[in-house]
Amino acid sequence: MARATGSGPPACAKCGACSTVCPVYRQTGREYHTGRGKLHLLARLDPANASAAYAEILSHCLLCGACSQVCTRAIPVAERLAAARAELHRRAGKQVLLRALGGKLLGQPRLLRVLAPLARIVKERRLPADSGLNLRLGLNLAPAGPGETAPSTTRESGPDPVAGPATLYLFSGCYANFIEPEIPQAVCSLLAKNGLGRARPATGGGCCGLAAYSSGQAGQARRLARKNIAAHPGSAPIVVACASCASHLRRYGELLADDPDWRQPAADFALRVREFSQYIYQANSQAPAAAAGEQPPLKVLYHDPCHLRFGPLRVGAEPRRLLQRIPGLELTELPRGPQCCGQGGLFHLAHPTSSAAILEQLTSDFRQSGAEVVTTACSGCLLHWQQARADGQHQARVLHLAVLLDRLLPPLEQQP
Ligand code: SF4
Ligand code: SF4
Repeated sequence: MARATGSGPPACAKCGACSTVCPVYRQTGREYHTGRGKLHLLARLDPANASAAYAEILSHCLLCGACSQVCTRAIPVAERLAAARAELHRRAGKQVLLRALGGKLLGQPRLLRVLAPLARIVKERRLPADSGLNLRLGLNLAPAGPGETAPSTTRESGPDPVAGPATLYLFSGCYANFIEPEIPQAVCSLLAKNGLGRARPATGGGCCGLAAYSSGQAGQARRLARKNIAAHPGSAPIVVACASCASHLRRYGELLADDPDWRQPAADFALRVREFSQYIYQANSQAPAAAAGEQPPLKVLYHDPCHLRFGPLRVGAEPRRLLQRIPGLELTELPRGPQCCGQGGLFHLAHPTSSAAILEQLTSDFRQSGAEVVTTACSGCLLHWQQARADGQHQARVLHLAVLLDRLLPPLEQQP
């Protein structure tokens, strides 16, 4: 993450470097959608008086962090935009930002086709009120009240592939817990097969809080952070199945930096967070790639989640190297390199036209790659790739990286 330095916050130089990487600006061509444009407008709009216009500008952002990465003044642009959302939420109230972020869902049959079945599943499974899936599936756009608590989203009946006490915490994320439990099972299995021990979910944890943070509900995001920190005592690594959760959990230290009681526990917690593929790769980084086989290879694309490209963890080489250890698998790349999928947590609900345009550009590139499988570690990206398949934009299978690796990566002793 780009960091501001010096005594005061740096001012925008209007250089335009952020415009060149903004996926939203690439589609809309509107200056006020760039990091530069948004910072300019935010400096002139009062969130208390200009709430509707303010909300529209702030909602038209994926919070992908690409602008922060390239900013010539090291301005943490995406973090400033997230802080502005929190300020709007605090001052303007009346759910103005939440309406801008989620209010168009019912008019979007394309989105509903993918989201409605998932919404039914999570309702049947009694999704906690403070899970970010409520927002991401358009189930409940009302912010949780200050005293609202919910049972843990981490289930206690997870897989148990290795005998003996757990040595690692497993943080699955709400999507894996409530929609695709094969994902945490695969992560546990991979950890065991690679000799890394036994992972168990914490008791009393919950949603990472990213959706609350992204929708300006700073108080709720901080409550969830404290709850998760308290649920993970000790020093055991916290292995995370979802890229977006991993990125947000890693930022707990920043999120609670102004809280004297939680600053240090949050910083300690953040350092224990490990994205699962990076953790597995770093533990056994010496194994070489598999040799090419005689059969036609299975062509696979690894999709880079923005949270791992631009967030604090920077994971990209590791999942690719793990995939390259699978005999008979050929890793492909997009012609123009990694691209955002346009999901952006709540962005696809707020701006379905922009989101769909970003996705269509990506899948157009993807079709040129010839891949038969697309894999990623972010639940939001998975949803968007599944939506693209449902819309007929591609025919590839969409698999979470852990599920693919667990099915095809040989146990450590059999790796080349
Ligand atoms: S965070 Fe992403 S979408 Fe938002 S302004 Fe920056 S580059 Fe554009
Ligand atoms: S890259 Fe940074 S300094 Fe340059 S226009 Fe964008 S926000 Fe301003």
